[in-house]
Amino acid sequence: RFLPDWESITVSVIGLGYVGSCVAATLTDQGIRVVGVDNDETLVAELAAGHCRFREPGLPDLLARGIASSLLSVTTDYDAVSSTDIVIVAVGTPVRPDGTLVDTQLRGACEELARRIRPGQLVVFKSTVPVGTTRGLVAPLLQGSGLSCGADFGLAFCPERLSEGVALSELRRFPIVIGGWCQDSVDAAAVFWQKSIGVDVVPCGSIEAAELVKLTNNWWVDHNIALANELAQVCARSGVDVLEVIAAANSIPKGEGSVNVLLPSVGVGGSCLTKDPWMLWRSARELGVELRTIPVARTVNDSMPGFTVRLVVEELAKLGKSPETATVAVLGLAFKNDTGDLRATPVAPVVAALRQAGAQVRLYDPLVEAGETEKTFGSGQAESLTEAVRDADCVAVLARHKEFDAVDFAEVRRAAAPSCVVVDGRAYYSRDMIGRLRELGFAYRGIGR
Ligand code: NAD
Repeated sequence: RFLPDWESITVSVIGLGYVGSCVAATLTDQGIRVVGVDNDETLVAELAAGHCRFREPGLPDLLARGIASSLLSVTTDYDAVSSTDIVIVAVGTPVRPDGTLVDTQLRGACEELARRIRPGQLVVFKSTVPVGTTRGLVAPLLQGSGLSCGADFGLAFCPERLSEGVALSELRRFPIVIGGWCQDSVDAAAVFWQKSIGVDVVPCGSIEAAELVKLTNNWWVDHNIALANELAQVCARSGVDVLEVIAAANSIPKGEGSVNVLLPSVGVGGSCLTKDPWMLWRSARELGVELRTIPVARTVNDSMPGFTVRLVVEELAKLGKSPETATVAVLGLAFKNDTGDLRATPVAPVVAALRQAGAQVRLYDPLVEAGETEKTFGSGQAESLTEAVRDADCVAVLARHKEFDAVDFAEVRRAAAPSCVVVDGRAYYSRDMIGRLRELGFAYRGIGR
């Protein structure tokens, strides 16, 4: 049940943000007809004109190909969903500072869908939600249609676990977790994902388990990064390169006491890791469980922009400069490498603190649109990388996009101030590269390096 004839299958995707666009593009790339629905008229008009605002490697091409082949269409009109066999929901699920879900987008999507849902459809939710939301909020709203979950339509929760910058390859590789309202919903979702994208599936015994899987993934990542960030601080004091420690620590074979320590950095940003742990913390609290590890990891990771600022100031002092007399070029403004996403970027508090200390800060990120920079940083970008680093006392690489691999540091050396330090916030330059920077006359300092 809930699966149509495969040859004529059609899918709708509600919410064409980062996740929805990647999912829609990936499905059309597999030859499946997809209609994307979003209530943001500007976004839909941009996509229809072949413009993709998300700087995700490969995504603009994939979306443009989908639109050109007519396999992908986009609209603000919800009526489009009733003629599709599978409905995928990927709207945003932000949280308030106390961790409670802002359910406006989810509720809006469910209410619109309830007016159009028809018997036989399979509805798949991908948005990250607190445990209990599918059963407690989503299903009742959909049943407002008069149709019954499990009897008339299928309902599954399949959390999205991609990360920005490598989203398309992860979508094609990562197993899809499935929590279903009933066995038929699980089975239909499993066949759909296996046949459409060709990935493995991990069926869970309940929708709640699947909801918790996603939150656990991000709880673990945030915690792991917090450990790497604290390790980096110890390394900074003991003259040890944190990357050497992490590589060696990670060398024990899998299953024999292995660890997989992630990397330290200028901080954790983006729309997921900064909110999902709090979402879980809140859910747990409502269930009477106080999760102590979550606030600890969040506090450590939120302290990293401050750590980075202190590091810049310390290095400037070694050059005989105070922040008031210094120029700092910040290369990479996004919340992580290879994305143009500025949501909750840790670079923003770094820039704010440096400005507060009196430094002149120049910004440059080839993946971020000028208007977005203005909104988040209150000023525009330098015209070019060379302009950004001109007379700079410090070049802080706070996101290392692939575009930065081609940076000619000999040219940076010529443009920058006579004494200049390269601060590596997440470039993770190799020892060879660090040696080369030193040969060129730069001082070098990384997070825990
Ligand atoms: P986003 O904010 O980029 O996109 C959400 C989209 O939904 C927006 O385009 C918005 O206009 C649209 N929307 C909102 N309400 C709507 C409605 N009622 N009808 C139609 N469209 C509506 O969010 P995102 O980053 O794509 O994340 C979506 C979900 O996936 C969230 O739950 C997030 O936690 C989760 N997630 C995100 C990522 C990521 O890296 N961005 C990774 C895994 C999971």
